[in-house]
Amino acid sequence: MKYIGAHVSASGGVENAPANAVKIGAKAFGLFTRNQRQWVSKPLTKESITSFRDNCEKYGYAPWQILPHDSYLINLGHPEPAGLKKSREAFLDEMKRCEQLGLDRLNFHPGSHLNQISEEKCMKIIAESINISLDKTTGVTAVIENTAGQGSNIGYSFEQIRFIIDHVEDQSRVGVCFDTCHGYTSGYNIKDPGGYNQTFQEFDEVIGFNYLKGFHLNDSKKELGSRVDRHDQIGKGLLGEEVFRRIVNDSRFDEIPMILETPDEELWGKEILLLYSLIE
Ligand SMILES: [Zn+2]
Ligand SMILES: [Zn+2]
Repeated sequence: MKYIGAHVSASGGVENAPANAVKIGAKAFGLFTRNQRQWVSKPLTKESITSFRDNCEKYGYAPWQILPHDSYLINLGHPEPAGLKKSREAFLDEMKRCEQLGLDRLNFHPGSHLNQISEEKCMKIIAESINISLDKTTGVTAVIENTAGQGSNIGYSFEQIRFIIDHVEDQSRVGVCFDTCHGYTSGYNIKDPGGYNQTFQEFDEVIGFNYLKGFHLNDSKKELGSRVDRHDQIGKGLLGEEVFRRIVNDSRFDEIPMILETPDEELWGKEILLLYSLIE
């Protein structure tokens, strides 16, 4: 079965996210557990935590149907000690928030070398950052998202993601999220039926489907291999509806949260309906 939803607002408190997801007919949802554009956030209150857990239960969202996303400021592969320290502290805080909320996975962009260190060095720093946060938490899997490879971002190939996983000590708590827009603009031609088959065969050979813990469903405003990250509404971008028909009919993607991060939130309800209507 497919669990399709969107990255919903948690404004006013994380406890509001489940109701925002229900409103658009989502069977899964993503959220930020703290302000994604600030370094420091107030701790979650006891009331907020209890209310989040109660609402998830009330609306029928199990932890594995929820894919929180970390702050965009965090760079777990930061080449400078001060920036790295700040990022590691913020990421640990995010992991701990997931722990408190009873969530089992946290999605994040691996990091950027900022043109100061090699890709390999950066990937080793990222793996070490993951090791540190896994050491200090329990029950939460660190989910690496594939990236478009914009700027100096790491994570634009399955080989890079594999390299990071290989350097993680507890591989039972590391996972991967596949973003369709990032995949396409980083050079995986999932739009073409042959390219689709090849991409996911490669995913299985290089990474392994056992690591797949989430999916981001986004169309793309930018071309194949452009390495630019610009999401579009489902069926309105360069990927088009057919790719998404293949994805929602692909049993390898059953029982994982599939999250829309498309630009116009007013359309999420319609997009979720559309995606479910494509299932044959
Ligand atoms: Zn992301
Ligand atoms: Zn994404």
